[in-house]
Amino acid sequence: MGFLEKVYDESPILFQNIMASVSGYQRNMTRYGKFYDEYMKFLADFDTWSLERKLEYQRAELIKFIRYAYENSPFYQKLYKNIDIDSVKGIEDLKRLPIVDKEMLRENIDRVITIPHKGAVEGHTGGTTGKSLVVLNTIEDSMKRMAMLDHFKARVGFEHRTMKRATFNGKHIVPPQQKENVFWRYNAACKQMIYSSFHITENNMKYYVESLNKYKPQAIDGFFMSMCDIAGYIERRNIKLEFIPIAIFPTSETLTQSGRELLERVFKCKVFDQYASSEGAPFVTECPNQTPHIELASGVFEHLEEGSDEVLVTSFTTHGTPLIRYRIGDSMKFADKKASCTCGIQAPIVLEIQGRRLDFLYTSDGAKINAGNVSNLFKNMPNALIRAQAVQDKIDEIIIKLEVDKTLYKPEYDKILKDEFLHKFGIGTRIIIEHVDEIPREKSGKFKLIVNNFRGGGQL
Ligand SMILES: [Zn+2]
Repeated sequence: MGFLEKVYDESPILFQNIMASVSGYQRNMTRYGKFYDEYMKFLADFDTWSLERKLEYQRAELIKFIRYAYENSPFYQKLYKNIDIDSVKGIEDLKRLPIVDKEMLRENIDRVITIPHKGAVEGHTGGTTGKSLVVLNTIEDSMKRMAMLDHFKARVGFEHRTMKRATFNGKHIVPPQQKENVFWRYNAACKQMIYSSFHITENNMKYYVESLNKYKPQAIDGFFMSMCDIAGYIERRNIKLEFIPIAIFPTSETLTQSGRELLERVFKCKVFDQYASSEGAPFVTECPNQTPHIELASGVFEHLEEGSDEVLVTSFTTHGTPLIRYRIGDSMKFADKKASCTCGIQAPIVLEIQGRRLDFLYTSDGAKINAGNVSNLFKNMPNALIRAQAVQDKIDEIIIKLEVDKTLYKPEYDKILKDEFLHKFGIGTRIIIEHVDEIPREKSGKFKLIVNNFRGGGQL
């Protein structure tokens, strides 16, 4: 444990709030500044451009970015040594350049990076081996990415740093020895109340809701499953909320349709999702109509090959660790080029995103049932379920762990759930229901609906 963590843990909560704010102000220095302000203005203007003008801008940025990587990154210089990069004049020419996969990036990371460590902004990402990979970003790119996110929120009426937000994340803000039921800390730098995802238990939930009612956030962001936990509790207990947020912005988890509906029902506002990875992928954001659009200023998405949904990304905000035709592991389906949205923003529409984080279960004959479908199986359950997790250790067996509200749950509900699963998975799969006091969370603080330990299973 570092010195600061030790001081933090042993300080009173009031002082911990001050420390959270100080570190918030420090972080803001790499996130907000000249580049941020300029880019916010640019993005507001960019939204009004025609599609042709945007595509032309994207093309010019692409050419500039490839040239930059070639001149500044020893890795790309070698990779492109037999290629005339001047012959790449648009997206259709990108196929002349080799694909970069995660393993190549990890093995060569020191030669990919173009900037000194000092003064750079670190980003972390999980490599294929599960080891975290550190990518470096320039301050300018880091500010531009922040602007991209804030602009996406501003479109639906939320103004970052002037309005109050509640964030559910994996930060360790509650010291282990704490006795008070205070599972949040205030970061004044961003008008942000940070709620711990690690302490959301049935017994603690009332304190979270009390705090939210007192704080009255104008937006809620962070871990999707943590928000769903809170929303589920509010609905089960029929608690009156004393605020209506402008919007909810989940991050870093794949959304389920039923979870999204739950949040919108309970908080009485819309959920807006976005796609951008920690490696620095280009953005896909939902417009005020909740239609996902590609943010053409942020980079290029291509399909791996004809007929495949897997995408390659080229991201214009990765000057520190350039990503060109990077095989990020996610899949997307794009709408027909002629499709348009009534929001007025002219940008390609994404029909479906399948993140690599999307977990699945197997049927006994090896078919995959993804998390979205699994979560739907719980939809018809009476309102007594706190949390559920499906665990697969063997191909023909699924264990469903249930955390239930004992005052509301009736034994026959088990059968309803079992039937739902049997209908989806078939009689070849044994469904076992286990009632547990608490389903453990991941080390990151995230909650997983599916744990697939079956060989070859788990995450894509
Ligand atoms: Zn739209």
